[in-house]
Amino acid sequence: MAETTQVTVIGGGSSGLMAAVSASRAGAEIVLLERLDRVGKKLLATGNGRCNLSNADCSLSRFYGGDPAFIAQVLTRFPVASTIDFFEALGIACKTEDQGKIYPQSDQASAVLDVLRWELDRLHVEVRTGCEVTGIARAGAGFALSLSGGKEIGAGRVILAGGGKAGPQFGSDGSGLRLAQKLGHHLIEPLAAIVALRLGAAFLRRLKGVKFVGRVEVRCGDDVLRQEAGEILFTDNGVSGPPVLQLSRTAAVALQQNKAPRIVLDLFPDSGLEELDAALANRFRLQGHKSLAMGLVGLLNKRLIPVLLAEAGIPDPSLPCGALPAQERQRLAALLKGWSFPVVGTQPWPQAQVTAGGIALDEVDPATLESRLVPGLYFCGEILDVDGDCGGFNLQWAWSSGWLAGRSAASR
Ligand SMILES: Cc1cc2nc3c(=O)[nH]c(=O)nc-3n(C[C@H](O)[C@H](O)[C@H](O)COP(=O)(O)OP(=O)(O)OC[C@H]3O[C@@H](n4cnc5c(N)ncnc54)[C@H](O)[C@@H]3O)c2cc1C
Repeated sequence: MAETTQVTVIGGGSSGLMAAVSASRAGAEIVLLERLDRVGKKLLATGNGRCNLSNADCSLSRFYGGDPAFIAQVLTRFPVASTIDFFEALGIACKTEDQGKIYPQSDQASAVLDVLRWELDRLHVEVRTGCEVTGIARAGAGFALSLSGGKEIGAGRVILAGGGKAGPQFGSDGSGLRLAQKLGHHLIEPLAAIVALRLGAAFLRRLKGVKFVGRVEVRCGDDVLRQEAGEILFTDNGVSGPPVLQLSRTAAVALQQNKAPRIVLDLFPDSGLEELDAALANRFRLQGHKSLAMGLVGLLNKRLIPVLLAEAGIPDPSLPCGALPAQERQRLAALLKGWSFPVVGTQPWPQAQVTAGGIALDEVDPATLESRLVPGLYFCGEILDVDGDCGGFNLQWAWSSGWLAGRSAASR
């Protein structure tokens, strides 16, 4: 075996970069191995290229996973204030926008990556790109790492920061999870989260690209599991948009548990059902001579009109507005307030922003992020069974867990 470095970080994503900085600042000799040709590819894509790097209101209710106490312990060690101090010290002026979302003042994710890489250079951390770890085995007090290409290197301690399965085009293809499994760790089944949903309705193809501002709920039977509001977008086989991404985890988990979740859309969240029905009645009275298809133009997106009329059981859009029976108008109003679709799945991993599930938390010490099964092995970031809402929570987890894993591995 060629060499043995004190601490080897596997994965040059957000958490791995933070772990390498943290371990190096604590005095350890570090090598960082990244399978892609450059580090931080996913970081560059975050926040639509602006990097929503944290959230001013990082309450525990915004995080999910096996154990809230575990998550709290890690976040407390490196909280939002530490994240801001860390990046400000590296030159990133931070600003807080609506809903507590924190961004670099320059609105550039590349700036966040630049300062992390600059810090790694300053600390003389060796970064090897195009270097995929294909195996980890115990070797004496440390580890032997097999690399793509057949080479083997030694490592004193290992920080596994390979991410989950979301966005494999940015490097996290699930190989980190497989490495952990081979070492005996158990996985909570990974699910795509912060992702668009696939719904069961053939007519969706005709609605692709239609947007509206409304409310969306995930329901199982009569139970509303979560609701969000904002701009909703129809795709060719489902729905997307910020509120859908936000509640996608809830739908994915309900689907996994065979609870037959439904997505219910409210196109007029600011009006009650009766109020909306009265407004439709008034509209149809004033425009009684027009066809229904024409009478709804200006109120609803034109592409929605024939679909909604058919779904409301009004087959003839050429019927004059004035001739529509009250019962059929009430059905249309009810549909506009609660258009329900069965959830059939999430969009695939390349479209997901985060992985729900991952390495079971009871096999990891929250005080250090060291494996309870394999001493000297540490985890950080999305590879663990922790994920957060959309809004900077996932990067905060990457920074907090990366910092703690690096600090612990360096001082072991
Ligand atoms: C499009 C998009 C936008 C997002 N926007 C935001 C946002 O604005 N705010 C927010 O909080 N979160 C956002 N997220 C989520 C956030 O980016 C992730 O949660 C976070 O980057 C996870 O960091 P990580 O280090 O755990 O994993 P990753 O960033 O996925 O990094 C893992 C790294 O490990 C490498 N790797 C994997 N296996 C191996 C191996 N075997 N050998 C060597 N290297 C390996 C990969 O190539 C990759 O570089 C977004 C995600 C996506 C996809």
